[in-house]
Order: sequence, then structure tokens, then C-alpha cells
Amino acid sequence: MGAQLFVVATPIGHLDDISYRAINVLKSVNIIAAEDTRTSAQLLKHFNIQTPLTACHDHNESNKIDQLIQRLKNGEDMALISDAGTPLISDPGFKLVRAAQEHHIQVIPVPGACAAIAALSAVGLPSDRFSFEGFLPSKQSQRLLALHKLKDETQTMIIYEAPHRIVACLKDMAEVFGAERPVGFAREITKTFETIKKMTLGELVTFVESDHNQQKGEIVLVIGGATAEKDLEQEKLDQLLTRLLQDLSVKAASQLAADLTGIKKKVAYQRALELTQNVDES
Ligand code: SAM
Repeated sequence: MGAQLFVVATPIGHLDDISYRAINVLKSVNIIAAEDTRTSAQLLKHFNIQTPLTACHDHNESNKIDQLIQRLKNGEDMALISDAGTPLISDPGFKLVRAAQEHHIQVIPVPGACAAIAALSAVGLPSDRFSFEGFLPSKQSQRLLALHKLKDETQTMIIYEAPHRIVACLKDMAEVFGAERPVGFAREITKTFETIKKMTLGELVTFVESDHNQQKGEIVLVIGGATAEKDLEQEKLDQLLTRLLQDLSVKAASQLAADLTGIKKKVAYQRALELTQNVDES
């Protein structure tokens, strides 16, 4: 059997999140290709892993590939790690993995922490379908363009953002998606100042802008899809109508709901009828 390339996830903060398997693999391979050897040296020291490191970051990745592939072909097992989390997820590694595959070298994932998945698992937005958008462009004009392309996306969207751009980015999002769009904010996951919140984009702009601490550290944004907003509106309308229907006729309840929410009276009336039918049937 030929040499193997292990793609190993490392913690995104809390070091206990490394897996037993990751430690065993990192100890047993001949070489570890790392995004930043100085950062990874600290991790290896913590777990008493003495395997030699070699750099494989964005800038040298293409040049280094041939060299690393040659070592694999010579029979050396290799692990690929990034500074934090899962390699290739907004991190280097894709070119090495692709080259390994092209050279018929077995690529083995060793799964573990990933900020995107950790955020999605905790913010309370639909997780059955989602898209990972990575980092948005840093220039505002390009960011707005990217956001406009995502405006009607119905899946939940996961976005990484740098702390110094978070306020500007959230404001752009509120402008394009609307201030009522639900959003999950996951900051410093697994670390001391971990913050996990769900609110509307408008509320999040205020929350982050008014507290400087929320503009620090590492941040994942999880944006509800275009339908999630509609679901939320529908849920609010249903709650209102259900309450009004306890005391009022369908006509009066839908008139009042339309006045209070600004939705068309016909829509409110139709929904009120459906709700009363549901109650009658149950
Ligand atoms: N490969 C990593 C992963 O699996 O999540 C992502 C690396 S990417 C260069 C760094 C970005 O991931 C940060 O800017 C932030 O958006 C997100 N991130 C990483 N660690 C995080 C954490 N502990 N809490 C929140 N976001 C984090």
C-alpha cells in the first residue's frame, strides 16, 4: 500500500477539541504540512507531537506541491493541517489534495472542528440546507454585489468575517437582505468570550455597534435564507391571528391584524380562515 495523505482538523480555540485520532495520526506520519509552521509548532508541543513540520501555505502552495507529492510517492505518510479547524475550509490545502488525488495517492480525512459547522449547530437557524460562502470581498462595492447575488438564496448561508469589517459588513447585509432577516452571530467559538446569538440583522447591527467587545475576535455569521424570513413573518402573523380569533370574528381579527402588521387584508383574512378551519378540524 502506498503512502497516505491525512487531512487533519485541529481545534478552533479550545485545545480539548482535538480528537484522539488526530493526535495519533499526527504522531505517526513522517511529515506534517502546515499552513504556518510557527503556529502549528505550538499545537504540536502542547500534545507532545515530535513529527517534523514543513510549510504549505497559500503563497508557496503551488511550488511546494511537487516536492510534497514526491515525498508521498517515496512512501512518506503525510498530514496536512491548517492554523485552526479543517484544512481547505477558507484555508490552504485544496491544491495539495487535488494533486495527491491525481497521483493516485490515498487522501484520508480526519474530521474535527470547523467554525462554520460549529456556528450552524448552535445558532438555531434551519440547518437542513445551507451554503458556505467563506469570506465576502473586503471592498464594499464588491461586497454589495456579492450580497445582491445572495439576496434570494433560500438556504441558510454561512459567512466568515474579520472583526474590523464586521460593522460595515452587517450594515451592508441589513441594506441588501432587509433589517428583518434573521441572523446568527457566533463569535470566539469554544473560547473564553464565546458569544452565540440569534436576532434580526437590524438588531445585530445595533448590538455589535454599541459594544466594542463584539467587534473583536473571530466571527461566523449565519444568515437565514430568504424563506426563513417569510416563515418568521408567517409565524408572527399566525400568533397574532390566533390570539385575536379567541375574541373576535374572522373578519374583525383579520382587519385588525392587517392594520397592525401592514399586510393586505385579503391575505390576513385567508390565513384567519385557514386557522379557524385547522382548529375546527383538530
Ligand atoms: N479552517 C477554519 C475552519 O475550519 O473553520 C477556518 C479558517 S479561516 C482562515 C478563519 C475564519 O474562520 C475566521 O475569520 C472566522 O470567521 C472563522 N473562525 C475560526 N475560528 C473561529 C472561532 N473560534 N469562532 C468564530 N469563528 C471562527
